[in-house]
Amino acid sequence: MEAEQQPWKPDFYMELPKVELHAHLNGSISSNTMKKLMAKKPDLKVHGQMTMIDKGKKRTLEECFQMFQIIHQLTTRPEDILMVTKDVIKEFAEDGVKYLELRSTPRGENSTGMTKKAYVESILEGIKQCKQENLDIDVRYLMAIDRRGGPTVAKETVKLAKEFFLSTEDTVLGLDLSGDPTLGQAKDFLEPLLDAKKAGLKLALHLAEIPNKKKETQMLLDLLPDRIGHGTFLNSSGGGSLDLIDFVRQHQIPLELCLTSNIKSQTVPSYDKHHFRFWYSIAHPSVICTDDKGVFSTYLSQEYQLAAETFNLTQSQVWDLSYESINYIFASDNTRSELRKRWNHLKPGLYEVNHF
Ligand SMILES: [Zn+2]
Repeated sequence: MEAEQQPWKPDFYMELPKVELHAHLNGSISSNTMKKLMAKKPDLKVHGQMTMIDKGKKRTLEECFQMFQIIHQLTTRPEDILMVTKDVIKEFAEDGVKYLELRSTPRGENSTGMTKKAYVESILEGIKQCKQENLDIDVRYLMAIDRRGGPTVAKETVKLAKEFFLSTEDTVLGLDLSGDPTLGQAKDFLEPLLDAKKAGLKLALHLAEIPNKKKETQMLLDLLPDRIGHGTFLNSSGGGSLDLIDFVRQHQIPLELCLTSNIKSQTVPSYDKHHFRFWYSIAHPSVICTDDKGVFSTYLSQEYQLAAETFNLTQSQVWDLSYESINYIFASDNTRSELRKRWNHLKPGLYEVNHF
């Protein structure tokens, strides 16, 4: 019997082994963990609505970035970062994610004396402890450059990334460029990003998140990034162009697509208008991701389900989407083939017919 004709297992999406490639640490903090952080800092008087967008609710992109400022006030000490990292990893593992690339901007905090290095070390410690606890998930870290910091901070981050790239045995794999897309200029980041690339670090760049950024987008694309975050306005309707689409297609640069994030931050008007439709229709490498599962109150299984239901994907198409995501991870070919083995091992159980 063809898998297509079998009934959907109720927990199909949860059991589907998944790869998560676009997850910001502070945006991925669940409401449970947030409660623990709030309890430690009652003076801040932060409450749930300030750090999470509930079902059916929306905010502007600007408001979303303001939420991050609030979250950052709750994660100011190395022990906060360690707890948050471990909780986020556990939650992804519980959701059936087998390989995770977490990204975060190294942050120093004058109020607590936490240095950027201590911040990074806390994340790496969290990853290490989860490994020691035998969690069924392989976790890597991408160091993020926040556009707000400008070129000086970007250069420092690249320096830090290079150090950890050499000392962490394949845990720090690359760099991300993110933050408020209305701030900073792409040209300021070209030199440090190119420097990182030359050192062997991979690049995952947020691109064309807002309309009418053609020049900047082309500038960043000319770096030949290894993956693109969002790429919402690459096409002509949003001030992008056919040239940009052709470039991305020609170089087969994979896209990290985050449906709920784009809907809730209102850069895409509705699920059915999401650019997943276009890129999927031309079979362009695309990976379903959460972006900020905490802030946007979602999880990866749900994002797969939303994509399947919105774009009428069959079970085997969903499977292929997840399986092909392995191609776009930043870890080695060896890890890639290990993951493919895992996926093939887990596949039969996913298609067992339920008899109740
Ligand atoms: Zn993002």
